[in-house]
Amino acid sequence: MHNPVIIAGAGPGDEELITIKLLKALKVADIIIVDRLVNPAIISNNCKPGVIIHQAGKQGYNQYSYTQAEINGLLIAYAQTGKKVLRLKGGDVTIFSNLLDELETLTANNIPYEIIPGITAAAGAAAYGGIPLTAKGYSHGVQFLSFNQSSDFTQHEWERIAASKDTLVFYMGGKNINRLVQQLIAHGLNDTTPIAIISQATTPHQHIEVFTLREYAVEFVHAPYTSPTLIVIGNVASLYKKFNWFKTAEKAGSIFKELAKNKG
Ligand code: SAH
Repeated sequence: MHNPVIIAGAGPGDEELITIKLLKALKVADIIIVDRLVNPAIISNNCKPGVIIHQAGKQGYNQYSYTQAEINGLLIAYAQTGKKVLRLKGGDVTIFSNLLDELETLTANNIPYEIIPGITAAAGAAAYGGIPLTAKGYSHGVQFLSFNQSSDFTQHEWERIAASKDTLVFYMGGKNINRLVQQLIAHGLNDTTPIAIISQATTPHQHIEVFTLREYAVEFVHAPYTSPTLIVIGNVASLYKKFNWFKTAEKAGSIFKELAKNKG
């Protein structure tokens, strides 16, 4: 009988933003297959000696990125050793993390699994930025969306998104903010709507900028944002100015590793 593969979310960055369940899994894991957006300290401070750590990062625009097929192959190969395998991903595993592919792979190979939730980037960034995502009087709710180089919404979808009274949170959009802002304005979102751009949320390098969409669209001269970056659009974003509490030294750098040549 296989040990179940544990698929767990490691939260947005701050190494203390993990669950006790994950902590227990880290202490016993023999093999950890890990995403790029996991704070390495979470592993090094909690794993047992001799653990095998396999970095299997995925990232757009990066030639060293693992493909999902390669990651699926790793999952099966490691699970079949009979050892305790922990699959660790940034944030929460049910949100923009290809969980479905991995579940289908495990199921197809009769490998049991357990899933441990984590704090998704939107929750981490909102909390550490003092932005109540669904504040009464500011929004009707919140939508989690992704926007990367290959995202292509239809005309109708853009109109629906732009007309929404929800707070819009965009994952994976850091390199495409200009295009996102242009599309939203073009499809009717009021250009006085605030936009918060939040990089490396919950880490010592957290950096937040808030503009209106118009200011963003007009100025357009922004330093490229350091990955990972989350975009929050909606009236709640203006609350940052009053309620941000997490002070960082704004030091350059990142706790997240760049993907390197050596796969594995
Ligand atoms: N499963 C993850 C999301 C993975 S998609 C989760 O639940 O958070 C990767 C995207 O998440 C990044 O492009 C970025 O938009 C966002 N992200 C992850 N960690 C972040 C952080 N610390 N700060 C800002 N954005 C983050």
